[in-house]
Amino acid sequence: MTSTTTTPQSTTTAVALAGVTKVYGRGANAVLALDGVSLDVAPGEFVCLVGASGCGKSTLLNLVAGLDRPSGGQIGLAGGANPGLMFQEPALFPWLTVEANVEVPLKLRGLPRAERRERVAELLRTVHLGEFGRKRPHELSGGMRQRVALARTLALDTPVLLMDEPFGALDAMTRDILHDELERIWSERKLSVLFVTHNVREAARLADRIILLSSRPGRIIYSAEVDIPRPRRIDSPEVAAIAAEVTERLRTEVGRHGQ
Ligand code: ADP
Ligand code: MG
Repeated sequence: MTSTTTTPQSTTTAVALAGVTKVYGRGANAVLALDGVSLDVAPGEFVCLVGASGCGKSTLLNLVAGLDRPSGGQIGLAGGANPGLMFQEPALFPWLTVEANVEVPLKLRGLPRAERRERVAELLRTVHLGEFGRKRPHELSGGMRQRVALARTLALDTPVLLMDEPFGALDAMTRDILHDELERIWSERKLSVLFVTHNVREAARLADRIILLSSRPGRIIYSAEVDIPRPRRIDSPEVAAIAAEVTERLRTEVGRHGQ
């Protein structure tokens, strides 16, 4: 099997996966984590990938991020750019202030000091942390730390954001607020987002399109457009109805494995 990373031919695709396969290990111990996954994310589209634990969601995201290589198939990113990444753990540098954390990607990009200062201030305002630049991560709540991580990711200025259960460790109320913020930033910056979650309500709250992945091997078994007007509320009947439908599909899938 061959694997290549290419720029999508079409300008109407931000992320393109074609027949992507991932095998971990060899021989009798080999695990087929992903099997022929094809998926296009359009520019400005918000796609949520849902599925049971262990179905290959993180594997798929890591492949798109270039952290690992597919065993087969092609993955393309618009402009060949490095995507922004966010995980459940914010992975901030504990010894650096909030400002300095957000400044890291700007330094790496070689921006001059004055411009970095300006950008950091603007990014911290964007995530509503304008007053917290001098704090260190341990002085902040979990939700605030994820805002810092989001600001640092936005500092990369990439059009594609990959998020792996970024709000999974937060309480429901904090998560709710961060959903609003992410939706606002996504629409202002016209980002393309591939967002992994096992929380179907969160997916229905955020997504333009929900993709459901089966387990062992991970295959796309269902895809649904979510045309609920924005801004949405996670406790609205429309979101609940979509979540119920996806949960039903998920339950059928888990039942198929006799778990
Ligand atoms: P999810 O994020 O949906 O919970 P993962 O992508 O983490 O699922 O894992 C998919 C499958 O691949 C699981 O069966 C997991 O045990 C296996 N897997 C993930 N990473 C590795 C690895 N580095 N080596 C071997 N197996 C792995
Ligand atoms: Mg995972």
